[in-house]
Amino acid sequence: MSKYWSRAVHSCQPYTPGEQPRGQSFIKLNTNENPYPPAPSVLKAIKEKSNDSLRLYPDPECLELRQTIAEYYGLDVDAVFCGNGSDEVLAFAFQAFFDPGREILFPKITYTFYPVYASLYNLDYHTVDMDENFNIQLEKLCSGEAGGIILANPNAPTGKFLPLSDIRQIIMANPQCVVIVDEAYIDFGGESALKFIQEYPNLLVIQTFSKSRSLAGLRVGFACGHKDLITALNRIKNSFNSYPLDRLAQVGAIAAIKDQAYFEETRQKVIKTRETVVPILRRLGFRVIDSLTNFVFISHSQVPAEELFQRLREKGILVRHYSLPRINNYLRVTIGTETEMVQFCKALEEILS
Ligand code: PMP
Repeated sequence: MSKYWSRAVHSCQPYTPGEQPRGQSFIKLNTNENPYPPAPSVLKAIKEKSNDSLRLYPDPECLELRQTIAEYYGLDVDAVFCGNGSDEVLAFAFQAFFDPGREILFPKITYTFYPVYASLYNLDYHTVDMDENFNIQLEKLCSGEAGGIILANPNAPTGKFLPLSDIRQIIMANPQCVVIVDEAYIDFGGESALKFIQEYPNLLVIQTFSKSRSLAGLRVGFACGHKDLITALNRIKNSFNSYPLDRLAQVGAIAAIKDQAYFEETRQKVIKTRETVVPILRRLGFRVIDSLTNFVFISHSQVPAEELFQRLREKGILVRHYSLPRINNYLRVTIGTETEMVQFCKALEEILS
């Protein structure tokens, strides 16, 4: 606390990202990064552009990247917005579409950055209850009275995917507000709501290059929606930072979209590893929530999650534990390489025996 702090600094409740360890090498299964490196074509593109042109500002509009994304998803370029990681795109969207006094709805258990943005921008929100199995109460999201709705689909940290028919029902029931669907993990088995954006002017779909395209370190995210929504995001962005994506990030992201073969190969490997690991974890006595992401959300019948977290850490394996109501006996474990997951399962067996 300091007398020099603004009211915003006093009242905000910052997000705590997962640990990025320095020095000691861990098997890192705590921040949902991709265990495989970026495509060689991405690194080549970035190296080629690491030249004198860095003297110049990047394209503030990210036009070529937006064109590449638009073409890939069969959209108009005016339907695409790019930002510095999807976290930044989300932050812009909260400012662009939600107002104080009009309650935003999101599920009780979801990405913990949503209440952080709400508190930063003084927005009111209500968290919608979930059942035992982390299913969302759909009726509460369909009252048509919300001032805004945000859903991670698949959800984090549960990994659960909400069928597109439910997403469509929510969008249709809420024409009075924007419905944001945060699809950070969509490429690991879910079905994207992108196909709805031409139909519904109140839908904004946000995706990232951080997970399925192995580029968490490059910081690239994007939003797709009706051109009026994209204009709103641009108005906020241009009131904050003209150049959120640097030159290397723009060329790297373009190369990543163009390398379809590498993307397919690596995401399929992650999915396959997940499907191999889930039954092993169940055999070890874990409750494993069905996941369509690159992580699993697990809870053991006998050993508390916090103890497992510590014991795994001592064995050089980092996973994520949240000291939050309802989920404090769960661990969120990123799917690593096959070798890493064999080591993870072996470590668990030792701890549990
Ligand atoms: N949405 C969800 C649900 C996430 O889990 C994350 C990653 N922490 C993000 C958005 C942000 O990802 P990034 O800023 O790396 O694009």
